[in-house]
Amino acid sequence: MIPPGYRGHREVLAALQRGSAVELGQSVEQTPIVAATFGPALATRVSVVIAGLHAIEWIGVETALALAERLAAAPPTDRKIYVVALANPDGYRRIESDLWAGRRRFRRGNTNGVDLNRNWPTGFLPRPKWLSGINWPGSGPCSEPEVAAIVRVLDGETARGAVVDTALSLHSFGRKLLIPYGARFRRPARYAELYERARRVRDRLVDRYSIDQVSRWLPGAFVYGMEIDDLHDRYGACALLVECAFGGLTLDPASWTTPFHWYNPRRPSQVAADLARALEPFVRGA
Ligand SMILES: [Zn+2]
Repeated sequence: MIPPGYRGHREVLAALQRGSAVELGQSVEQTPIVAATFGPALATRVSVVIAGLHAIEWIGVETALALAERLAAAPPTDRKIYVVALANPDGYRRIESDLWAGRRRFRRGNTNGVDLNRNWPTGFLPRPKWLSGINWPGSGPCSEPEVAAIVRVLDGETARGAVVDTALSLHSFGRKLLIPYGARFRRPARYAELYERARRVRDRLVDRYSIDQVSRWLPGAFVYGMEIDDLHDRYGACALLVECAFGGLTLDPASWTTPFHWYNPRRPSQVAADLARALEPFVRGA
């Protein structure tokens, strides 16, 4: 069964109807990729929230939905906000069937086995599948329809003259606030601004989170083709990746062999509520 507090694919789609839901595109298996949108359609400033790029990281999806709930209660008037709560719906549905069947599986990629957080154009590094393991970037930048759909919609926003100035991507786990770059050791030109906005989020959180530039978290461990590098370089967005919570391991040894609990905390609604409260001002551009 699905652990208490988490939602299956259909419930996630239902929750996204709180805003004006738009279909951005379709996954490999033709599952709709839906965003809830808030604020004026023709606003000149745009924020994007992405969650669920990695199949098993369900706490990010719950956090995105908690954010959507807050935005629905007080929709922005000065910007448009996309909440793409489920960027890898096929992967999410596989995990859902695993949970119902009691299978203890780890899954990260989409149906093609691509790590959707290595498939973005900025800093993309081609690598053969056999050498990549779970981090296969795919056959080329934006080769995967899930990533291509998001990029196409944001490109459309810039084409009409809007500025995508804020981007948030939700993952798990590790209680980290990560900023660009992943693919380069050097600091971004706007590092001070990126750090400052992350710091404000950190200061609002009840749990203790630390801030790092991705490529300097574990020196030498570069991450190529990741979303925050692309959202920052391509659109100029202040981009933040959150590794939500610390997973859900307990003293019960059964939790140690259940990949779902490596990534996802117990009592997700509490964790998601704290994160959403702290992230809401960021998403609104503060
Ligand atoms: Zn992730």
